[in-house]
Formats: sequence, structure tokens, C-alpha cells
Amino acid sequence: HGVTGILAVQGAFAEHAAMLDRLGAPWKLLRAAEDFDDSIDRVILPGGESTTQGKLLRSTGLFEPIAAHIAAGKPVFGTCAGMILLARKLDNDSNIYFGALDSVVRRNAYGRQLGSFAATADFGSATGDSVVLVEPGERVPGFADSASGAGSTTEISSDSIVLKDFPLVFIRGPFVAEVGSAATVETSVGGNVVGLRQGKILATAFHPELTDDTRIHELFLSL
Ligand code: GLN
Repeated sequence: HGVTGILAVQGAFAEHAAMLDRLGAPWKLLRAAEDFDDSIDRVILPGGESTTQGKLLRSTGLFEPIAAHIAAGKPVFGTCAGMILLARKLDNDSNIYFGALDSVVRRNAYGRQLGSFAATADFGSATGDSVVLVEPGERVPGFADSASGAGSTTEISSDSIVLKDFPLVFIRGPFVAEVGSAATVETSVGGNVVGLRQGKILATAFHPELTDDTRIHELFLSL
């Protein structure tokens, strides 16, 4: 693996770094444009306050290299505010940031009182006979293979993986109001879409980095 660049201008970047440490995966904080060097092969956009992050992306010069990374089809994982930064459009805010994820996302979608809660749901859209279920506490196959250096013996595609009973932590989170045809729904809770995937883009309205469940990070590292 190369290094995961974690946007670190504001918000919950330290929690993502701690998660990657648990997995033995190298990371680098992105605070200034020059931090985005050739070693970076994937990017995490953390939770926080999307308007502030958007302004700081511009003033630091980090917007352009991250946009180019996404446009090149390289892996990016946005949590909460990070999902907002990735969306094609917001339905209650006129800002558009990376505009890469084919979806319309609603900020603070649950209202102030209901915005912070916990739930549990499966993560993954695979159906049919080829589904690989990963139970809590199990390693995601592609990650386990690359971590052990064994190489994949069974060629499990990351889109056939379903993470069973993932703990969802919401903090004044968004949800997805409209899913475009390029994106697939990975998680819904209470009828609302809260996890999306589009190629190597993963986005969650919830915060896996605030749990001790490493499976979504493993899935991201296996892309
Ligand atoms: N409500 C925040 C925003 O709109 C996102 C919340 C979060 O990242 N925890 O930017």
C-alpha cells in the first residue's frame, strides 16, 4: 500500500488516523497543499463542519490535488461532512464541493434534536449467491489478504462484500435525499439512505471511526 492522506483542516481526522493505526496502515495528515505528495494513494475526508472544511480546502490549496485524485478514480472515503463534500448537489445548501458522488445530500437532515443517535445496519449492496458476509470482528477478505501479503486466493470482489450489523453513529449527520444512477446504496436506516458507493468512492453519513469496528476502513483499504 501507499499512504492514506487524511484531510486534517478541521474535524474528526485524528479518529481516522487512530483507526488506520489499529490496522497497521500508513497515513499522513493533509493540512497544506504540499502535504499531498506522490506517496498518497487514497484519501479520507473526515466528519466535521462542511462549510468550514470547504473554505479551508480552498485557502490551503488542497482542493485541487484532492479533486484531481478523485477525478482519476482513486479511492476516497468521506464520512459525514466528508459525504457532503463529495456530493453532486446539496438540497438545502447552495455550495457544491467535489461534486463527484452522484447524489443529492441533505445537511443536518435529522434536525438538531434528532441528529445524534446510534443504530445498526448491514453495509453493502451485494445480493444473490456470491455475497460474502463479514461478521462483526471478522476481517474483510481483501484487506486480510493484502495485510498478510498472501495475495487473494479466492478473488473476492469488494462489491460482493456485505458487512453484517455495522454500528452506525450519527452526529448531526446528513442523509442522502436522492441517489443518482452511478451510485449504489450501501446502507439505509429508518428508510433513509446513509451509505453510498460509486466505484472507489465510499461515503457514509455516519462515523465508523468513532466505533471500534474497523471493517469499513478495511474495505476502503482493500479498494
Ligand atoms: N452537520 C455537519 C455539516 O453539515 C456534518 C456533521 C458531521 O460531520 N458530524 O457539515
